[in-house]
Amino acid sequence: MSAPLSSTAYFNGNFMPLAEANVNVMTHALNYGTACFEGIRGYWNEEQQQLYLFRMREHYERLVKSCRILTMKAPGTPEELGRITLEMLRRDNPRHDIYIRPLVYKSSLAIGVRLHNVDDGFVLFYALLGKYIDNQSGCRCCISTYRRVDDNGIPARAKITGIYVNSALAKSEAELNGFDEAIMLTHEGHVSEGSGENIFLIIDGQLVTPAPSENILMGITRASVMELAKRELGIDTIERQVDRTELYIADEVFMTGTAAEITPVGEVDRRPVGAGGIGPVTAKLQELFFRAVKAEVPAYTRWCTPVYQPVAASREG
Ligand code: PMP
Repeated sequence: MSAPLSSTAYFNGNFMPLAEANVNVMTHALNYGTACFEGIRGYWNEEQQQLYLFRMREHYERLVKSCRILTMKAPGTPEELGRITLEMLRRDNPRHDIYIRPLVYKSSLAIGVRLHNVDDGFVLFYALLGKYIDNQSGCRCCISTYRRVDDNGIPARAKITGIYVNSALAKSEAELNGFDEAIMLTHEGHVSEGSGENIFLIIDGQLVTPAPSENILMGITRASVMELAKRELGIDTIERQVDRTELYIADEVFMTGTAAEITPVGEVDRRPVGAGGIGPVTAKLQELFFRAVKAEVPAYTRWCTPVYQPVAASREG
């Protein structure tokens, strides 16, 4: 396995060792949180000897939208960014699961809080990433005392680095109080999302999830789960306002995210959700999802970008 530090990065137009992709301490983004980013998983399929990037196009489309919100110049079209990503990986040839991080950042060495008249830079690197949260047994969540930032504060629909202070406050509070993850409410007191995940409830056989107006990141895993539920299980998703106590009485609750994948929630505020472990619908969605990300479900291979040339013929010929 290649260690993250020996791998290649793409930094302001050049491929170079990640260890050499450094910024000056005066960099605007370091001082003011003025950057936007993505996280893209690559899944290694051992049988096919192939690395599949999950919904790379959608991630780059979201990066371009985040840039528009921050009035930054996107470093290329989603297609161009995809090509750079594939080239970076082919140089290193990783043959295991990875997590890719593109970051568009305010690069000027300037004091002054603003978005205009500051240069933009771009860096792309990847790292190993295993499980983010245990997604087998049901994680223990609490409602955070920190509220989700509002669209008129820092827009949550953009994946902005500075916004993650909100997530970090909530996550650390949760972990230091003995929970695995935090669920944040909006300023109006409705359920928004986890520190790095969207949230779903199963209520009377239907999927329910906070609507886009609830200061959520429009998750790509969220969209994937909605499609899998509809097409494969015949379950519709209702996007609406969700009250905190609905979490206490839902049949199942789970969280979705690139890092968290599909993580069942076993407990909210010390109240068991359903039977407490992974519920039947969550288990079915998880099983489908984990096959889909490795391009093992024909209807969803369109979600998976292969990094390497396919091996021409199998051993059997
Ligand atoms: N909400 C937040 C705050 C996140 O950081 C993430 C992770 N990107 C998500 C939701 C889930 O989004 P996605 O499924 O696109 O990774």
